[in-house]
Amino acid sequence: MNGYISEPVNLLKMDHRSFKNFLNSFDHVFSDCDGVIWSSGPLPGVGEFFKLMKKHGKSVHYVSNNSLRTQQDYDEHFQSAQIENGFKNLTIPSVAIAEYLKLLNFNKKVYCVASVQTSCVLERAGFQCFETTDAGSDDYMTYSQYLEDDLDVGAVVFDSDFRVNLPRLYKAMTYLRRPEVLFINGATDAYVQCKPGCLILGTGIFTDIVSHEVQRPPVQLGKPGKLFGEFAMKRAGVTDPSRVLFIGDMIEQDVGLGKATGFKTLLVLTNNSKEDMLAHPTLRPDYYADSLGSIVPLL
Ligand SMILES: [Mg+2]
Repeated sequence: MNGYISEPVNLLKMDHRSFKNFLNSFDHVFSDCDGVIWSSGPLPGVGEFFKLMKKHGKSVHYVSNNSLRTQQDYDEHFQSAQIENGFKNLTIPSVAIAEYLKLLNFNKKVYCVASVQTSCVLERAGFQCFETTDAGSDDYMTYSQYLEDDLDVGAVVFDSDFRVNLPRLYKAMTYLRRPEVLFINGATDAYVQCKPGCLILGTGIFTDIVSHEVQRPPVQLGKPGKLFGEFAMKRAGVTDPSRVLFIGDMIEQDVGLGKATGFKTLLVLTNNSKEDMLAHPTLRPDYYADSLGSIVPLL
């Protein structure tokens, strides 16, 4: 452990007075969803945890990188975890991207390398979206068709996308070679856990390829982007980031967002071991615990 990052504190080993000081150190709880509130089903004690946080006077909000779920799907997940008004208090990349484009009075076409759900959110917000559905062929010569620009395109949006392929990447790069075209990224996850111990490639890997090719970074409107953290604060009506406790299970996304935005951070060890947490070269949470349910007896 180098001398520059402080050691995370185990909430479950705190004495009564220290735990009280911890509780008094924040007014708002922002929680990640996947891996914190539910995995294949709701995790034990989560509904009770948030109820008790509210009882202690905390406002409760949810911040996820997952724009893949529909509202109905989110509603069902929150209900099964016994959480009320979950979706109403949820911030996800697709909603942040729509809001960002509105603030810019954006009125050109949006090219999407994203899920249908993300395009739907943007379209409902009044933006004209399109994508490439071509599978591509085995002949490189046919790929020149994806290098044709369309001057009506003013933004390229990346978010979780299971259909990402060469035609989609070439199209994105073609538009992004014009410096005035907005380059926006939602979920940044380079890897996604599909079952314990098993990681699959996420969209972040492909955004990185495009970013490298067009030699500019995207605007990050997903965790761990600071702008996304600030957007979540704005939606929650919070002005002081130091009074927010951010809870997550992923070091890069959740602890990273907390550090970028100035939140206090709590890592639950539902997907990472204590050893994984301590092995990260630059990021440490302020606090950690086995799960939200494990904190309930202390509340
Ligand atoms: Mg998570």
